[in-house]
Amino acid sequence: MKALVFDIYKGTTNDGPGMRDTVFLKGCPLRCLWCHNPEGIPFENRVWYERNVCIGCGECLKACENGALSFTPDGIYLDYSKCKSCMKCADACPTGALSPIAEAYTVEALAQEVLKDREYFFSSGGGVTVSGGEAMWQKDFVCSFFEIMKKNHIHTALDTTGFCKWEDLEAVIQYTDIVLYDLKVIDGELHKQWTGVDNQGILTNIRNLKKYIAAGKLRLWIRTPVIPGYTDREEIICEIAEFIRQQLSGCVERWELCAFNNSCVRKYEKLQLEWCMKREGILSQGKMNRLTELAKASRATEVICSGIMKEGKIL
Ligand code: SF4
Ligand code: SF4
Repeated sequence: MKALVFDIYKGTTNDGPGMRDTVFLKGCPLRCLWCHNPEGIPFENRVWYERNVCIGCGECLKACENGALSFTPDGIYLDYSKCKSCMKCADACPTGALSPIAEAYTVEALAQEVLKDREYFFSSGGGVTVSGGEAMWQKDFVCSFFEIMKKNHIHTALDTTGFCKWEDLEAVIQYTDIVLYDLKVIDGELHKQWTGVDNQGILTNIRNLKKYIAAGKLRLWIRTPVIPGYTDREEIICEIAEFIRQQLSGCVERWELCAFNNSCVRKYEKLQLEWCMKREGILSQGKMNRLTELAKASRATEVICSGIMKEGKIL
């Protein structure tokens, strides 16, 4: 069994307890307007293009049998509608300007890679986190991978949007210590407008986790991306707080408000995609403080705020 892995962050402290390796699996059915990992959205592998290391040699055009590449004043243009992801252009490129986004790993190869870091997992109380994309859409791979991790006493975290079948989530949590669950917005209409999908199943799935948490078999952290012009409104935060208080009482260890930044803008450029958020600045410390205080006042659970923020007066 293989999966396409588009990144492995080593030694991160952002994706669960302790120091961790976070593995990013390709493929996501959501289309969040603020997506930070656009390269992880397509389920298939693709090439992407880095303009500033291209020397204009034309080897990639010779290698492509599908006419997907052309020269423009801005460098190589890649027509993804013609691209068959054969990777011949990347193989021919002498500088790495064209490169595959992801690498295929077997479960065993990924386990071997992650187990190299077991020392800092054990010394820091960390482990491995599987993220994406939406990792749940490759649940057989995640189950097998986590099963190997558990046999090696490695702590496992699943970072998920919750947009998946309950049976699949239930299968994966048999081998999961903690779920990092995204709750972006409770209102179903807004969720659909901003992410492209309905959230009824997402809300049902998180409620279904309660029996595992109550039995002491699972821990749950919630994460909310705070996005300027979208989820940075007080009523959005209050609705999530109310949902946690009423529907998940006593089950959520921690709720993290994650401040938006546009550091992923280069990824959109490498994919030759326009991004509606590219000119959005970072949020002010004052605004994040105010939303965090509001979330804390709800007494739903412990609240923290994370991310880069600019100093400034409360907006
Ligand atoms: S991956 Fe293959 S089809 Fe796509 S641009 Fe490169 S050579 Fe052409
Ligand atoms: S082969 Fe690589 S360096 Fe040469 S033109 Fe194509 S992308 Fe640029």
